[in-house]
Amino acid sequence: MKTVHPATILEEDSKNRVLEPNAGKSSNFYHSDHILQSYLKKHMRADALKYMTDKLEWIGEEAATQMNLLSAQADQNGPVIKKRTPYGEDLEEIEFHPSYWKLMDMAAETEMFYVKWDPDLRKKFSNERHLLGFSVGHLYAMTELGVYCPLCMTDGAARLLDLFADDEDKHRLIPGLSSRNGKTLLSGAMFLTEKAGGSDVGANRTMATHLEGKLYRLNGEKWFCSNANAHVMMVLARSNEQSGTKGLSLFLVEKTLPDGTRNPMEYIRLKEKLGVRSMATAEIKLKDTIGKLIGEEGKGFKMMTEMINLSRLYNSVTAVAGSRRALIEAYEFLTYRKTFGKTALEHALIRDKLWELGSLHIVDFLLVWKTIQTMDAADNGDERSAHLNRILIPMSKWFSAETSVYIGRESMELMGGMGYIEDTVMPRIYRDLLVLPIWEGSGNIIVLDVLRASQKTKGMQYLLEDIQKLSRKSEKYGDIIQKELAKVTKVLEALPEQSRDSMESSAKPIFKRLIYLWQMALMIEEMDQDNRQWIELALEYMSKHLHPEKFGVKEPPSVETIQNLIGWEPKY
Ligand SMILES: Cc1cc2nc3c(=O)[nH]c(=O)nc-3n(C[C@H](O)[C@H](O)[C@H](O)COP(=O)(O)OP(=O)(O)OC[C@H]3O[C@@H](n4cnc5c(N)ncnc54)[C@H](O)[C@@H]3O)c2cc1C
Repeated sequence: MKTVHPATILEEDSKNRVLEPNAGKSSNFYHSDHILQSYLKKHMRADALKYMTDKLEWIGEEAATQMNLLSAQADQNGPVIKKRTPYGEDLEEIEFHPSYWKLMDMAAETEMFYVKWDPDLRKKFSNERHLLGFSVGHLYAMTELGVYCPLCMTDGAARLLDLFADDEDKHRLIPGLSSRNGKTLLSGAMFLTEKAGGSDVGANRTMATHLEGKLYRLNGEKWFCSNANAHVMMVLARSNEQSGTKGLSLFLVEKTLPDGTRNPMEYIRLKEKLGVRSMATAEIKLKDTIGKLIGEEGKGFKMMTEMINLSRLYNSVTAVAGSRRALIEAYEFLTYRKTFGKTALEHALIRDKLWELGSLHIVDFLLVWKTIQTMDAADNGDERSAHLNRILIPMSKWFSAETSVYIGRESMELMGGMGYIEDTVMPRIYRDLLVLPIWEGSGNIIVLDVLRASQKTKGMQYLLEDIQKLSRKSEKYGDIIQKELAKVTKVLEALPEQSRDSMESSAKPIFKRLIYLWQMALMIEEMDQDNRQWIELALEYMSKHLHPEKFGVKEPPSVETIQNLIGWEPKY
């Protein structure tokens, strides 16, 4: 029998591996991401970026390292309802794994809320409050999409109180809702959905009966309540005889009543969810729950749209961040994976796929971050931006959510078998992404909302004007964008004359086309020396959709071009 020398075994073993021995992995998502850095540098004032830099660097490092473990733990050890103490006292609490609380603490420490709501910072950075909050939020959501939902509603509750509550409630609650210390952070929630009314909120049945002053007793069942254990819940309930949304008023429901007792409500059960399992979504019975009327009676839904709009923006940021994570996981893997004697990145079909996914990331990033800036301008009193936002927010939500699921799935496939295995973050990220097209208005509901906004605001007119103006700056694409825009405009103008069915049916594809033209226009607007290396390639890729489908001989982009497009440095 032939004996094998031990040195030979060692040599053979060294080749028996999944990744190359020099495999690099980002240890700081902020440092690694050229696209994010370049965008923030361009659009944030220098003093704002300076204020935020240490937080960006800190959460960038945490998201790439420690948070992965915390997120996996929080996902695998989801919340449970605790009905009673061991000694039989009624409790009605939700218990979380310690990693969940650590994730909440970390969010507070990024100052994602504090930078927006602290009175001095609010004044100082009034033009870029959302930009600042979402800059750290993006890095956070690259690792933890689930907890970002309670965080979204915490900011949303602060927004509603700031806009509509009386001074006493504002001063009492907003500092807690925007704390930079997890121990003192109060979290928020929004309870709209009921069994009968999800998309159709006007079908809701929870009743509010007047008690005294602004206080009401609420009775009914809320069917999907995320962040069920929140301190501050913004709740819609029916307070008058009017049907539909006109009968709904907005109530501030606090977990604890002024005398220190628990505001009565019963957790029926927690939803067994496909994803976002770290946070608690409950079915809750309101049983003489005390709520304080906010704003005018019967105007609840109108006020609530302020929170819904902000949530849609959070949803969009989560979509871009989560799909960025999936993409860079695949990219890092392919950079250090060998198949058929070559680095996987060197195969033509992989380069083609990364060209597509990298381009989709860039256009969605620009779409969503432009909307963030428009929201900042609108909050700062710019009326044109407020109109524009009525179109941009729902469109960003819809498009980014759909694309994120596509990027997530394709990135998973690019990692082969490893993409399907829980040891990598891919399965969790993908499960979490799947909810984004559903909540905060699913695709069809968004289309109906954009239709409504096109009729009631000047948003659509401004969007068409902006596409027209920006596209003129491009010699290469200007003419063809304008030709396409003329076709889209013709259909949009014809919509009001159609039957309702025909109007809805025609709107969906035409709105998609419009978003696509807007993304082209944004790339033209945005391109400069610093970002040309990725935007030019994304423009080239996306421009294919301006032409009828063409088949023929073509060359894939080079490895170096793909590296430029992805804009990611694995070795940081
Ligand atoms: C994990 C999770 C957490 C959630 N957390 C919260 C929360 O914290 N607070 C809260 O209030 N809600 C929450 N929701 C509820 C969520 O917002 C709703 O599920 C969503 O709005 C859709 O409502 P629905 O489930 O009743 O669907 P339905 O309204 O029954 O819709 C079913 C389908 O029909 C489509 N549809 C409905 N009407 C039309 C129409 N007119 N034209 C065309 N298509 C239509 C919808 O797009 C959808 O695809 C949560 C949901 C999930 C999954």
